[in-house]
Amino acid sequence: MSRVYNFSAGPAVLPLEVLQNAQKELVDYKGCGMSVMEMSHRGKDYDAIHQEAIATFKELCGLNDDWSVCFIQGGASMQFAMIPMNFLGAGQSADYANQGTWSNKALKQAQMIGTVNVVANCQKDIPTRMPADGEFKWTAGAAYSHICTNETISGAELKKIPESGSPLIADMSSDILSCERDYSKFAMFYAGAQKNLGPSGMAVVAIRKELAEKGSTAIPTMLQYRTYVDENSLYNTPPTWGIYIFGEVMKWVKKMGKENLFKLNAEKAKKIYDVIDGSGFYRGTALKEYRSNMNVTWRLPTEELEAQFIKEATAAGMKSLKGHRSVGGIRASIYNAFPMEGVDCLVDFMKEFEKKNG
Ligand SMILES: *Cc1c(COP(=O)(O)O)cnc(C)c1O
Repeated sequence: MSRVYNFSAGPAVLPLEVLQNAQKELVDYKGCGMSVMEMSHRGKDYDAIHQEAIATFKELCGLNDDWSVCFIQGGASMQFAMIPMNFLGAGQSADYANQGTWSNKALKQAQMIGTVNVVANCQKDIPTRMPADGEFKWTAGAAYSHICTNETISGAELKKIPESGSPLIADMSSDILSCERDYSKFAMFYAGAQKNLGPSGMAVVAIRKELAEKGSTAIPTMLQYRTYVDENSLYNTPPTWGIYIFGEVMKWVKKMGKENLFKLNAEKAKKIYDVIDGSGFYRGTALKEYRSNMNVTWRLPTEELEAQFIKEATAAGMKSLKGHRSVGGIRASIYNAFPMEGVDCLVDFMKEFEKKNG
């Protein structure tokens, strides 16, 4: 077996033991005589997988019975549309922070539905960053407010969750369950599964039941959050395989101990940022106080050197370090499942590369 160090921003590395266990259970799940992929979503075997996945996630996030956890296809991008369709009614407005590529996409979808107040704007700032605490200009009486806790492309993360004064909704696609966070501050949060939670194919959406109930009833059934809440995401056939792997990843997080995991995440990121800060060769893309612990972004003196860096790293078994096509540079995505050994390997490589080319 030869696994590389996979720095992909998503779909991203999964815990090896989860993959190996899934492989063991692939053709005959716990003596059922069939794969999870082949079983009815109405049967008791699948039901146990579904319930346990939700329960483990709720436990890890500290969510009580006021909350529902839903599996919705279409990824985080579908949430960009569903949120305003459900909650941005005629005569209302919603607050959106424009913090980077992803929050900008979210607010553009909302603008197709209704009135949007851009409450902070640092989308195009270089160095990349998040809005400072006092920079958000929240609107009294807004239907809801929307933020992105980690901008995956720019490598900037909100270290402190702001108080918005209206129901707070957050895109946490790339930093959910990666650090200590008070999830009870939110009315809803969601993540495309393929970064920190499991395979691609769905968003995991945590929503207060009370908020789901307030959603529009004038949109198709599959677009209403209440449908997922009322039917426990079993109104239609859910992405059963993805939910199974998601549940296995949640069990892995629980076994690791989330405090241990959060500490490891900070250590992993610090190792790379320390190399950047100790060098006149590498230059971090994000302002220091907003540096992401999940997506570490930096530049080299020239684009030619960046291309060479990526080429040599790939040859040394470190894949997908190329920054997003919209910004260039280097990006190391080091989500929960990314191993410390891979970070050590990268750090050694960075030092060597600077010595040879700096
Ligand atoms: C990847 C990503 C998305 C898009 O997710 P899809 O599941 O591909 O729609 C949205 N927001 C953030 C912060 C992301 O990192």
